[in-house]
Amino acid sequence: VISRVRESFKIELPLRAVFETQTIAGLAARVNQALGGEPEISSAPIEKLARAGKLPLSFAQQRLWFLDQLSPGGSAYNIPRIVRITGRINEQALERTLGEICRRHESLRTNFVMVDGEATQVIHPAGDFALEQLDFSGLDEASREAAAKASIRERVGRPFDLAKDKLLRCSLLKISDAERVLMILMHHIISDGWSMEVFLRELATLYAAYCEDRQSPFDELPIQYADFARWQREWLSGERLDRQMTYWSQRLAGAPATLNLPMDRPRPVVQASESEIRKFTLPAELRERLVALSRDEGATLYMTLLAGYKALLYRYSGQEDVVVGTPIANRNRREIENLIGFFVNMLVLRTDLGGAPSFRELIRRVKETALGAYAHQDLPFEKLVEELQPERDLSYTPFFQATFVLQNASQAKLSLPGMRVEVPDHEGSQAKFDLTLTMFDTEQGLAGTLEYNRHLFDAATIDRLIWHFVNLSEGAVADPDGRIGDLLLLTPAEERMMLVEWNDTRAPFPEELCLHQLFEQCAARRPEAIAVVLGDRQMSYGELNARANQLAHYIMAQGVGPEVVVGLCVERSPEMLVGLLGIMKAGGAYLPLDSTYPPERLSYMLEDAAVKHLVTQQNLLAGLPGSQGRAICLDTEWGDISRSSAENPASVVTPENLAYVIYTSGSTGRPKGTMLRHRGLSNMSEAQVAAYGVEPHDRVSQFSSLSFDASIFDIAMALRSGAALHLIPRDATLSAPTLAALLREQAVTNVALPPSVLSLLPEEALPALRTIIVGGEACPADLAHRWAPGRRFFNSYGPTETTVCASGAECVADGRNPTIGKPIINVKIHLLDAGLQPVPMGAPGELSIGGEGITRGYLGRPDLTAEKLTPDPFGAEPGGRLYRTGDLARYLPGGDIDFLGRIDHQVKLRGFRIELGEIEAG
Ligand code: AMP
Ligand code: MG
Repeated sequence: VISRVRESFKIELPLRAVFETQTIAGLAARVNQALGGEPEISSAPIEKLARAGKLPLSFAQQRLWFLDQLSPGGSAYNIPRIVRITGRINEQALERTLGEICRRHESLRTNFVMVDGEATQVIHPAGDFALEQLDFSGLDEASREAAAKASIRERVGRPFDLAKDKLLRCSLLKISDAERVLMILMHHIISDGWSMEVFLRELATLYAAYCEDRQSPFDELPIQYADFARWQREWLSGERLDRQMTYWSQRLAGAPATLNLPMDRPRPVVQASESEIRKFTLPAELRERLVALSRDEGATLYMTLLAGYKALLYRYSGQEDVVVGTPIANRNRREIENLIGFFVNMLVLRTDLGGAPSFRELIRRVKETALGAYAHQDLPFEKLVEELQPERDLSYTPFFQATFVLQNASQAKLSLPGMRVEVPDHEGSQAKFDLTLTMFDTEQGLAGTLEYNRHLFDAATIDRLIWHFVNLSEGAVADPDGRIGDLLLLTPAEERMMLVEWNDTRAPFPEELCLHQLFEQCAARRPEAIAVVLGDRQMSYGELNARANQLAHYIMAQGVGPEVVVGLCVERSPEMLVGLLGIMKAGGAYLPLDSTYPPERLSYMLEDAAVKHLVTQQNLLAGLPGSQGRAICLDTEWGDISRSSAENPASVVTPENLAYVIYTSGSTGRPKGTMLRHRGLSNMSEAQVAAYGVEPHDRVSQFSSLSFDASIFDIAMALRSGAALHLIPRDATLSAPTLAALLREQAVTNVALPPSVLSLLPEEALPALRTIIVGGEACPADLAHRWAPGRRFFNSYGPTETTVCASGAECVADGRNPTIGKPIINVKIHLLDAGLQPVPMGAPGELSIGGEGITRGYLGRPDLTAEKLTPDPFGAEPGGRLYRTGDLARYLPGGDIDFLGRIDHQVKLRGFRIELGEIEAG
């Protein structure tokens, strides 16, 4: 079949990558034909037309011209080549050669001029070619090469004026008598990679002929680029255009606008495009196995490499819908084969990686994608953009941002001794895409370059990407039937760093003591110290401890003990802490019930948790739905309660017992009661002591409602350290000026607030404030900028399920978004993909948390518990579990964690965050 295709398309040019696509295009055309489709390629030949009237631009030229109008003076589309010539040189023959090439190809004599509001090709008559000559041979040997290089670099960077300049520039640089360098530079609007091969082949052949005084061996070209441009505009219209459009619009419907690769820097608003390249090679053995696997699947090496690349992009982005661009030479008609001009087209290759395919299956899918695309390659990319109008954004290219190229016999071999072609140093080149993987299939093996936009990526990130590409390819050939989601990307060293070293958080904490016991120690040390403040009311440690003890004894007598859930519905007041500590001391777990919640919500919680005991106040009781339980009113019943002992009750509770149950709505379904244990609380408070260094003379605010675990964070921070807890009354939580005034009057030193609340406070009004902790939602850079100088500023992260916080960072005002730092003591964090594999450095993964503090589960919901808590695949201890948060995060170099958002971020808007905003922050 290949030989028949070759025959019908006359493919003889050196670029085997192109040969390969041509072949496949031929196959696809034949497949179409066999299926009754019309073989579009075999329509009538392109004709030479009169040069009268306005000559239109091809679609591709049109777009490039338009880009040039938008931002003139760029050199992104300059295509350079260097020919090193050793030995004697015949300058006359060389100039004659260049003149002849220009004569043969109108494109090299064309300018692009606006005529009556339309871009038009203007072709100049052929003439002599004046070759620029530069002489560096006078310089000392050491500096010649560098000077020549600098001069080439400067020339390559010189923009072309498409309306006036010759769009082919050649310079001959004399390095020494025996060595010269010929620089050839064309603008892409008249050229492309294939054209460069045509140019170099003609250069070699004609130069050889002229040196020997022979005539040109070439036939005249049957048509010129302008004929092609006009033909393209006519041919690609009407029904034919519709058919192509139908294919592509179906194929691309609903494609993602961007490939969300982990970037080192945010995307500039307008695409900025200096690029760098990194080079690599694949082991020869790997190449063999890739070739063999391709053969097994009836695919080409191109398809198999592309499948590997797509698998890599999928693993990095987490997107199952992966779109990659690929250049296609677009020389599938005999009469344009030998032309110099802008023919190359970009094909959009979209593949679905959903359904956990094996690598073998992925090759099949990529093959199907590629064959379909080749069969519809005639539609210029420009036309596709124009017609489908993808969501446009100047910060990235439409349809795809990653591209793939396979080149066989890399650069054309000039068939002339003493001539060697080079692509000049990459330095300062311009990336048109975020990422371009080019593989060169040479006799020595597969070499690759990864060109990347250096505004987005660091070299280290790209090097890792390459490592992972190699690892993934190795894994894929070793087990082509394994799921691509399971292929290992990370090197053992990376795995050790991420899984082990960055989670090496082991540290002692009061494992045998519960929070209320740590509080008892403070009360014993300084009973007279102030424990709680509300406006002008205060309660000392001694008094708070005694009252909590009385309540504890009182409710223990009623049956409260370990694992008993006790409702707690008390106004913000010292009594609230009497209730909370009393329940803990009795061994029970408190379930906060906010009296401002709707009655349905309250009765749901009371029923769901089967609450039998409720600690409350008389005036709130009326608003509470009737429950089966016994209500204990701290106000009206205090006379009775106070008759109980004020001594610390004998410890009945262990650190493994429940400390509290908090209901969270989550994103879907009914609210669920998250069960947290004492040991998690002790560990958290130890982490607080270590991080914030709270002192007995500190004044700590208590902002959040008890219904949110942020409240126990404040309470523990103060009462574990002997500091004073300053309760914020509800009205002050709803008004920033009131809150600011209160914090100022009470000279509060430590606050923990949601960033959205902190952002409303005037920093100059709070001179006493020493430590700020934000948490509960992402912290923007400007907050740290405003508040960090002169204070300690922390970002604390964690879901309710892991006892308030799991990680934290101390932030400085460096203009960057504060990270959520590293795991707190005895906690570990893994960033995992959907297959529970650790994601590569920088790639987004689901933040999954293990270690101390993780929830025992959801009250009465074993199914949900099993879903959210998975066995820890990396844990050393048996029975360890990971809580999968549904948050996305990535590692920054050094192991700090950058919070990226919710996995189901649309839901977030309707979920709990809004509720928090309304209730807590107004
Ligand atoms: P909750 O379980 O109600 O405490 O909510 C926990 C969720 O709030 C986390 O899963 C995150 O989505 C978000 N969150 C908490 N702290 C932070 C933080 N410091 N930065 C960003 N998001 C946070
Ligand atoms: Mg929370």
